[in-house]
Amino acid sequence: MSLVPDSVLVHTCCAHCSAYTVAYWRTLGYSVTGFWYNPNIHPFTEHNLRLEAVKKLSETMDFPLKVEEGYDFREYFRMVAWREDSRCAPCFELRLGKTSRKARELGIGSFTSSLLISPHQNHELARNTGVKAAAENGVGFLYADLRKRYSDSRHITKPMELYRQQYCGCIYSEFERYSATEQGSKA
Ligand code: SF4
Repeated sequence: MSLVPDSVLVHTCCAHCSAYTVAYWRTLGYSVTGFWYNPNIHPFTEHNLRLEAVKKLSETMDFPLKVEEGYDFREYFRMVAWREDSRCAPCFELRLGKTSRKARELGIGSFTSSLLISPHQNHELARNTGVKAAAENGVGFLYADLRKRYSDSRHITKPMELYRQQYCGCIYSEFERYSATEQGSKA
């Protein structure tokens, strides 16, 4: 299948990081399609809350959204097993690898990720993982350092009243987010 230039599949990690990301690539003239694949979000009910928020965002901002069927959490845990302390690398590989293959399958010329707007993510790791996945799967990777626009993205979503998550996604990050509070409250 030939790939459509000036088109991009945006991996959407959450609604609040996706809003400005989608707007940015549109402003540069790209035809944007969103893509949901985040088996790193636990538990399933949390995953679904974030997915619903992204669906509402796609309706409000009027961009098509592809949702990967199923909830591949077993694959996530297989990828990070025995390297939990460096788990973000396999987590990014899983999600950006899938996104790059999906772009190719859909005939979309390039892909990117809303991870690139978040100051809470390992930016260089996300960039390098995207570049590698693009080379492996024969599609382009659109890179921009959007971290300075993180608050702009939240301003876009504020009036939409979308669900807002309190931790990165995996059960490990949930523990890190809340364990200090728990221990503090017991002290
Ligand atoms: S902390 Fe976030 S990026 Fe890292 S493995 Fe967990 S969900 Fe993935």
